[in-house]
Amino acid sequence: MGFSVGHSTGTSGGARGVFITSTAERTLYTGQIMAKLLKPSALLRVRKVALCLRASDELYRSGRRLDMRFFPLGPDSAAAVAEFNPDLLIAPSQVLLALAAAHKLPDLKHLYYGAETLNDIERAFITDRLGVRPDPIYQATEGFLGAPCRQGTLHLNEDTLIVEREPLPGGRFRPIVTDLLRRTQAVVRLRLDDILEPTTCLCGSIRAAVRPVEGRVQDIWCWSDRQVFPREVEDHLAPLIPADHPWVATGHPNGIRLACRNEHAPRLAEALFVFGQPVEHVEYRADMDFPKRRHVRWQA
Ligand SMILES: [Zn+2]
Repeated sequence: MGFSVGHSTGTSGGARGVFITSTAERTLYTGQIMAKLLKPSALLRVRKVALCLRASDELYRSGRRLDMRFFPLGPDSAAAVAEFNPDLLIAPSQVLLALAAAHKLPDLKHLYYGAETLNDIERAFITDRLGVRPDPIYQATEGFLGAPCRQGTLHLNEDTLIVEREPLPGGRFRPIVTDLLRRTQAVVRLRLDDILEPTTCLCGSIRAAVRPVEGRVQDIWCWSDRQVFPREVEDHLAPLIPADHPWVATGHPNGIRLACRNEHAPRLAEALFVFGQPVEHVEYRADMDFPKRRHVRWQA
């Protein structure tokens, strides 16, 4: 039996974890993802799968009937994925936005995003351009934590996990995860950085429905008189800027630093005044979003 050592920054971008998995666990993992995402009839029709991830891991390779390719995250990811023309694609939000802005995927039937947040306006933009709605998957170093149902709602994988909830303001919570399947490295009551929020879904699943991960606990803006959650910031700014144009808003103890193209700065800065803090504009740089795109951050 072979073992692989992989690493990932998880959905939340916190401390890098290292995990070790056996061949059996890798097989289980790949099978779990495919089975969670697709009905058996759809599964049989899938031929080309593209996974765009930050680190090249044996974990994600497979063989047999499926042509499953791994694409490392970088400036050329979108072009390389477009050339492969998958029918199923899992990629971080920034790759999907780059694909939607400049490429076509004529055979695409199933589309998933993970590792980075995606706001409603960006999701609608990708749906419109690529013709398929990107649905969230929730995956971290600790494993495969959530999958979307047919309605596109994220459900926690409570058939293989126990997810305890540490309350956060506004009904949100921070998950504490115990994995019931992993054997090589136990995941027991592991406290994750992600901010989750319960929602409802009409699909009938008994697994808890949550809104897509809105960010990480470390990126909640904290001033003495006020806490602001990442989704509140997204909700204010996203309607004011084209979905494929970059921006980063970083809260800090003395105000807010806004990085975006100059043309958008006045409009976005004005919207940020609602949080009652001074706003400073800086030039956006692509390396701000590499390896992980986060629109909303906190710098203590
Ligand atoms: Zn559902």
